[in-house]
Amino acid sequence: MTVTEHKSQDQQAQALHILETVFGYSSFRGQQADIVHHVVQGGDALVLMPTGGGKSLCYQIPALVRDGLGVVVSPLIALMQDQVDALAEVGVRAAFLNSTQTFDESMQIERRVRSGDIDVLYVAPERLMTPRCLELLQAARISLFAIDEAHCVSQWGHDFRPEYIKLSVLHERFPDVPRIALTATADQQTREEIIHRLQLEQARQFVSSFDRPNIRYQIVEKANGRKQLLDFIESEHADDAGIVYCLSRKKVEEIADFLNQNGLNALPYHAGMEYAKRTANQARFLREEKIVMVATIAFGMGIDKPDVRFVAHLDLPKSIEGYYQETGRAGRDGAPANAWMAYGLQDVVQQRRMIAESEADDTFKRVLGTKLDAMLGLCETLHCRRMRLLEYFGEQAKPCGNCDICMTPPVSFDATVMVQKLLSAVYRVEQRFAPGHVVEVLRGIDSDKIKQWRHDQLSVFGIGSDRSEAEWRAILRQTIALGLLTVDHESYSALKLTDEARPVLRGEQKVQLRQYQKPVKQKRSSSRSGYVETDLSAAEQVLFEKLRWWRMETARKHNVPAYVIFHDSTMREIAKANPGSLDDLRGVTGVGEKKLETYGAEIIALMAELSG
Ligand code: ADP
Ligand code: ZN
Repeated sequence: MTVTEHKSQDQQAQALHILETVFGYSSFRGQQADIVHHVVQGGDALVLMPTGGGKSLCYQIPALVRDGLGVVVSPLIALMQDQVDALAEVGVRAAFLNSTQTFDESMQIERRVRSGDIDVLYVAPERLMTPRCLELLQAARISLFAIDEAHCVSQWGHDFRPEYIKLSVLHERFPDVPRIALTATADQQTREEIIHRLQLEQARQFVSSFDRPNIRYQIVEKANGRKQLLDFIESEHADDAGIVYCLSRKKVEEIADFLNQNGLNALPYHAGMEYAKRTANQARFLREEKIVMVATIAFGMGIDKPDVRFVAHLDLPKSIEGYYQETGRAGRDGAPANAWMAYGLQDVVQQRRMIAESEADDTFKRVLGTKLDAMLGLCETLHCRRMRLLEYFGEQAKPCGNCDICMTPPVSFDATVMVQKLLSAVYRVEQRFAPGHVVEVLRGIDSDKIKQWRHDQLSVFGIGSDRSEAEWRAILRQTIALGLLTVDHESYSALKLTDEARPVLRGEQKVQLRQYQKPVKQKRSSSRSGYVETDLSAAEQVLFEKLRWWRMETARKHNVPAYVIFHDSTMREIAKANPGSLDDLRGVTGVGEKKLETYGAEIIALMAELSG
């Protein structure tokens, strides 16, 4: 064996040792081992891994194995304290530098950097780029740069941070320090932008599967959105933490109020709120249990709360990338979670209008339009949602058995005649009227407006009176999603025929649509989070509850989120093992040396007290 091989084997053993003793995990997950090994040896890496995949260890362990200070660039200033606290809990010397600190606090951290007293340093990108900070780092020994949330360099994405573009100087000023860029955004365009902007052409790429098998996807037809949401939460997630996404700030406030009036514990979050209030709500969501965060997409990046049991959308996301990122915040701990969305015709009309009215140039509008179409396709699909999602990210998949389509396959039917009626009605009103009016014509409603335009005289008036308004809206929505009709926002949301509509009108092409189903009250599904507790016996359940109570007290004392102390899964394992000694406790997943030292005795005492 050569010296290099010896060294590399040593480092591998060291990495595994750290995984076990510091983090308390018995093995690496997925590509973690390869990534860690590559970076430990000084290689650059681009890591694409879904949320919850385990990205943090990919840089934390190399930072501990290699000599010097690991620098983590992150835009998530509000979360740095928690990240540092979580590392301190496992005995890693961590700190951060950002604008929330006083000058004195910064000075103190800088001193610790100079004396080599820190293993992992989190830095906000704008701080990193200051001459002072660059000089500080240049004088120190750096083990690696981790660029977290690397998709923030992408100007096309909604998380764009201009400071991220400047991060290319790291390569120029620290040519020998390995860089590892990480993101959960999967699309090819973003990936190429990261490589190009951060000069990572030489980096090895580690692309994991983006599947999140524990998340169940459900998209329901919107009737009364907020009522449907309440039913969903009450029937499936009454005791859980979750996130509800809405499009506007106003709606966020309204829905939060509505949920609170109905006995839930909901908090609002949007960029229009005062910084202090917003941050306080975020902290409560992270620290307390059973909170429902009602938010705009301003909320969520970097939220590493592992036990978010559901993510609900009351408005249609603008793209599949956004939808996947947002829903990905559910179930990071690997336990079952729900991604639920209510979607209706109004969503399509509204999103199309937003694109039309935006100030973007035509090219950009076309990109937005294509992304929205893909999202609509997902909503209206007659096939497995997960397959559709993964295919969008370039992955092959099979029907999953864990989405609404797989579980209750929709019935499709030949809707050619109905769609022809709809298209004719649009044509007869000269493509100048909005969806609501067209539906009234079809259903033969003689409203004032219909009479005023003499639309009751048209041959199409009332030809669809055998269907309800909801059914017509469903047909209309699908017809728009199929691209046979468009909504013209230049002229009062008027419906217009597209070229694709002609063959259908002429009877040359058939149309399959999904059979309309009345929205039903949500049934309790097996994914209810209560499931996890049933794998404990009654006695174990008692221990688990005690541990939970102990964790809550301890978290309060240490002023950290409960999951920073132990995850539910760790406590479940403890309850099952009912350890009588520190040695028994040592083998439990998630219990490293530091936690054993800090909490071991308390836990053994707690167990003894209950069993004795
Ligand atoms: P990401 O940043 O990719 O969203 P995290 O790094 O936060 O994911 O990891 C997600 C969860 O998985 C965390 O709770 C972490 O402790 C856990 N985890 C990561 N790697 C392992 C492993 N090898 N074994 C067990 N648990 C792990
Ligand atoms: Zn499926």
